[in-house]
Amino acid sequence: MNIGARCGSCNRELLLVQLVQSSDGFRCPVCGFAFAPAYATVAPAVAARVMVAQAALVTALAELGSMTGDRLRLDRAMVVDPVANTLPQAEAEEPGLDRRGRAHWWARNAAPQPARTIPHQ
Ligand SMILES: [Zn+2]
Repeated sequence: MNIGARCGSCNRELLLVQLVQSSDGFRCPVCGFAFAPAYATVAPAVAARVMVAQAALVTALAELGSMTGDRLRLDRAMVVDPVANTLPQAEAEEPGLDRRGRAHWWARNAAPQPARTIPHQ
């Protein structure tokens, strides 16, 4: 499952999966900007954990949902907010852009995903 990101230096879009090779030093593949200067040796593994955890959460939610249907409705905010609150507001940096409506370069050729990500509120 792809997680998009944006370089804080050159502003280019990239994928978190591009940063999980520890030999690459956790740098922007375009401009070389160090994303975690003091943690370059451990940050790639943490980034990999983020991707695994997101995939596990989405898969488990979809699996539980397929078992329960409408008989059980999880509190959407209590599932999503703890994750959303760890991230800065991208909308504040890009006023006027609808994140859901944008066609990211990494999404155009992406393979179909087994489960949809939960849209931002
Ligand atoms: Zn960059």
